[in-house]
Amino acid sequence: MSEPVASSGFLDGGCTCRAVRYRMVSKPLFVHCCHCRWCQRETGSAFALNAMIEADRVQLLAGEIVLIDTPSQSGKGQQISRCPVCEVAVWSIYGGAGEAVRFIRVGTLDEPSRLPPDIHIYTASKQPWVELPSDIPAESEFYKVSARWPPESLERRAALLEKFPRRR
Ligand SMILES: [Zn+2]
Ligand SMILES: [Zn+2]
Repeated sequence: MSEPVASSGFLDGGCTCRAVRYRMVSKPLFVHCCHCRWCQRETGSAFALNAMIEADRVQLLAGEIVLIDTPSQSGKGQQISRCPVCEVAVWSIYGGAGEAVRFIRVGTLDEPSRLPPDIHIYTASKQPWVELPSDIPAESEFYKVSARWPPESLERRAALLEKFPRRR
């Protein structure tokens, strides 16, 4: 079931049992490597890699997902989308960012190396043995989006905010 991923602009991925297959139809807005303790706990690892993308740029190619309500650091909660069979998480929706943006778990892509982190965040709680590259921005906690995202992503973000005004 291999797909001609590299020849298309698409980024395809899925769960471990392959019941769920999805496609990102464009590049993401921005990619976080998050070293917060919440991500460490949820992944059972040292950090999480999340590619943010507009929800309408993600297509479910096969299977269905179940939404699991999960606490989040902000207190606003998140919904983690999981395969109902193997229960691997493929993306999250955060209360703060809203349903308009999905946080794709980069490790579920067929070719995760195509989306290296644009920024390392919450490095204050990173594991001491993780050494960060000097050429990628790093923040001890969060960061100011307008100062870090490339112009094209900021434009896409502005379009989103127009379509989905923040409900805070
Ligand atoms: Zn599965
Ligand atoms: Zn995190």
